[in-house]
Amino acid sequence: MGLVFWNRQKRKKKIELRRIPATDHGITASQICDKTKDVLRRLNKAGFEAYLVGGAVRDLMLGKEPKDFDIATSARPEEVRRLFSSCRLIGRRFRLAHIYYGRFYLEVATFRGPHDTSSQGVTSDDGRIIHDNVYGTVEEDALRRDFTVNALFYDLASGEVLDYVGGVDDIRKGTLRLIGDPEQRYREDPVRMLRAIRFASKLGLEIEKETQKPIQEMADLLDNIAPARLFDETLKLFHSGQAVKTLEQLREYNLFSCLFPLTEDGLHDPTFNAFVMAALSNTDKRIRSGLSVTPAFLYSVMLWRVVKYHADRSLAQGYPMMQAFHIAASIVLKEQVQYTAVPRRFTTMAREIWSLQARFNYKDCRRSMSFLGHPRFRAAYDFHCLRASVNDDVTMEDCQWWTDFQEQDEEGKLEMCRLHKGKRRKRKKKKKKPNSAS
Ligand code: ATP
Ligand code: MG
Repeated sequence: MGLVFWNRQKRKKKIELRRIPATDHGITASQICDKTKDVLRRLNKAGFEAYLVGGAVRDLMLGKEPKDFDIATSARPEEVRRLFSSCRLIGRRFRLAHIYYGRFYLEVATFRGPHDTSSQGVTSDDGRIIHDNVYGTVEEDALRRDFTVNALFYDLASGEVLDYVGGVDDIRKGTLRLIGDPEQRYREDPVRMLRAIRFASKLGLEIEKETQKPIQEMADLLDNIAPARLFDETLKLFHSGQAVKTLEQLREYNLFSCLFPLTEDGLHDPTFNAFVMAALSNTDKRIRSGLSVTPAFLYSVMLWRVVKYHADRSLAQGYPMMQAFHIAASIVLKEQVQYTAVPRRFTTMAREIWSLQARFNYKDCRRSMSFLGHPRFRAAYDFHCLRASVNDDVTMEDCQWWTDFQEQDEEGKLEMCRLHKGKRRKRKKKKKKPNSAS
């Protein structure tokens, strides 16, 4: 074998393969989807090595349901394509095979080898891997993965888990550990710092000391990552069902400001902090109950304080409310997309959620009824009530009015508006009294 990798102390460490039998790791073939098993068997039958790998093995060992089943094989992408008629090859940085079953597909990756640092253009000046298309053996593939718990291979034929990096022990101990020298691994791909927080929060793992240590100092390397990739990572982080925990950890490791630089300072304001926490806890609940979530809501929450700040400035200059919010939204979104490339359909929706907040003040029948029909009413209403829950210039009574209004039939709605009008008149009269007496 003769494979070595350098650990932190720069000592050579021999790679040992541990084969863990089914009786010890607990994964059974019945937990794996039939299509995955079919692909594994066909690759084996054609003479290739093929394993279930990565998140699926990890999640099954942790007793969680895997999100997807990825396969790693010794077959080259073209060889996979020859075996499966529904196969499409994708990717420039590293070619991957997608085997389609209707709209669903399985990802099959050829084992990768160590990137060749000797050839020019492979890494950038700051050590980031740019080109990465070297094939390798299963051991080499294991060493190139990020965390030990993500580098386990399940062999369907023997029922064994192949462990080259001590991942099984780490799963048992609940430890998240980078493979190899952490500093070098973060330099190669700074997104691994975000992945560390994501897996630790999502899977309840503890980040091992050496893996933790360089993060705060190296956080700035994320500035060099493409905003589109950071947007994808942001969604994975905040839509994992553990957003509250994730936010706390991101802040602890100085990583939050790389994704939301306009938000970080505002979190010291107790009202805004409570607002963000309430929103994230809501998001977590929705995800755990299988309800949909939209990135637009996440961004509208995170940027709300700074949008309000800019809107207030425009209001002070005499702009009407709606326009003030549009101006503020433009300033804030233009800056945010430089860090995480939020697609336009989501920025448009965030903009609407913000500017619609003003319409909750109008409770006359004509305007209220037409507001209910607005395509963004629901999102704006959720946002409004979230504000009410933390007393952010909106009262719970106000939120309740809109809750009740939606539930009424036509007659009930008219009645609510009449009552509201009556109340407003009384309030106005009361206000006028002291003046008229004087
Ligand atoms: P999830 O269940 O959240 O999808 P996952 O472990 O499957 O978790 P993916 O992003 O789908 O995560 O990646 C699949 C596998 O590819 C990982 O388990 C890991 O082995 C490897 N991997 C992904 N990204 C990196 C990276 N940046 N550096 C090294 N290895 C990586
Ligand atoms: Mg995955």
